[in-house]
Amino acid sequence: MKLLLHVCCGPCTIFPLSVIRQEGIKVSGYFYNPNIHPFREFKKRKESVRLMAEHFGFHITLEHSYGLVDFLRKTVFHEQERCPICYDFRLSKTAEFARDNGFDAFSTTLLYSRYQNHQALIDTGHRLAETFGLSFFYRDFREGWQEGIDISKSLDLYRQSYCGCIYSEQESFDKHLKKKLFRQKAQTQP
Ligand code: SF4
Repeated sequence: MKLLLHVCCGPCTIFPLSVIRQEGIKVSGYFYNPNIHPFREFKKRKESVRLMAEHFGFHITLEHSYGLVDFLRKTVFHEQERCPICYDFRLSKTAEFARDNGFDAFSTTLLYSRYQNHQALIDTGHRLAETFGLSFFYRDFREGWQEGIDISKSLDLYRQSYCGCIYSEQESFDKHLKKKLFRQKAQTQP
């Protein structure tokens, strides 16, 4: 089987790549993430993917174009249900690339994250596989959560603090702000 692995970032790729290779599957990577905001964050994550790929001898195609406008056009007014839209956006392009470049199957490192909607990813993957005449390769990569973190830290790979889009960036700031206010309140209480 020739498999195309959609790659969201360097750290999330480490464990899925090791599982796929252990199964003897020929795998290449594909970085396509127009959801990432802002541009300097996009560049940081892309560079971390490049370094990870170099370290593991992993062939990867990097989509360098920054697709913020297209991403926002799909998600504005759908902020609460944006994640399945985001999966569809990224995996459609991955499946198209896989079909056009002679791959039999595709998968995604998003299946490694404990923070993603795992079932929505599975459903999207199977639906797109049917549309593009491919197989969707599914494994529950979340099993290697800690292993992936430990290795990415030992390699000193860039590790992001939010999922990627402008909305998730804002949510992460909200969380930090809430924690800060809570600490301040605790300190001022007698
Ligand atoms: S939170 Fe993550 S998965 Fe959801 S829309 Fe934003 S970048 Fe995409």
